[in-house]
Amino acid sequence: MSNENKSIHEFDFNLICEYFSGVERQGPGSPEVTVKALSFTDKLTSESRSADIGCGTGGQTMVLAQHTPGHIKGIDLFPGFIDRFNFNAGKLNLQDRIKGIVGSMDNLSFQDEELDLIWSEGAIYNIGFERGLNEWRKFLKTGGYIAISEASWFTEERPSEIDEFWQNAYPEIDTIPNKVAQVQKAGYIPVATFILPENCWTEHFYAPQVKAQEAFLKKYAGNKTAEEFIASERHGAQLYYKYKAYYGYVFYIGKKI
Ligand code: SAH
Repeated sequence: MSNENKSIHEFDFNLICEYFSGVERQGPGSPEVTVKALSFTDKLTSESRSADIGCGTGGQTMVLAQHTPGHIKGIDLFPGFIDRFNFNAGKLNLQDRIKGIVGSMDNLSFQDEELDLIWSEGAIYNIGFERGLNEWRKFLKTGGYIAISEASWFTEERPSEIDEFWQNAYPEIDTIPNKVAQVQKAGYIPVATFILPENCWTEHFYAPQVKAQEAFLKKYAGNKTAEEFIASERHGAQLYYKYKAYYGYVFYIGKKI
């Protein structure tokens, strides 16, 4: 990569990070949904070890920590998110039990069978659902749980506009039964599957972005990269409102066999 390209790449990276650092969540979800997914797993103890992979600024990690004993490590590639994560943990007085660490989900440093629970909301797409399920399995104890939210089709067929959008954004998007079969094939009992309610997108994900987008465009007025980035975020939101009958996020909870 030339230096010129590299600096553009780094600028994009920082820009996107700055934008998402200022909002409640970096993907669709809600505290209620995190607690619901947790209800399908066995109770943890103060000795339990969990990981939240692709934790972002830790919205869901804080909820998990408030509903479970034990220690949780949050892992994210963006240092800016991890700074915010650890700051938020301190504010909630959770810093002794949860810790944010910069790292990549394709190169995790856990020991084999170290973890009782692996959590990942709206993030596994970065390495792919099947790959993540397979690669992360070794870090779980037998009988431990994995809980993952993932974009999924609700129908066998759908309008070409939304189909093309997703084939371009994340071709591994698939129907719920196909995803459940992948959970089983990767060596977990598929213990529960449920669709995230619409308010996880509208109220908790898109609504907080409206103000953030206006402020961001003001700050970066005339900056083409910033303008294009916001335009693509808005396009994604418009497509959701238009086609939400065809896709959404689904929580998959599996127990390691
Ligand atoms: N779980 C959070 C964030 C979801 S957004 C929430 O639901 O709000 C996806 C997250 O994955 C982002 O924070 C992004 O920085 C992170 N990410 C992307 N690639 C990654 C990688 N290779 N390893 C770890 N985290 C990654």
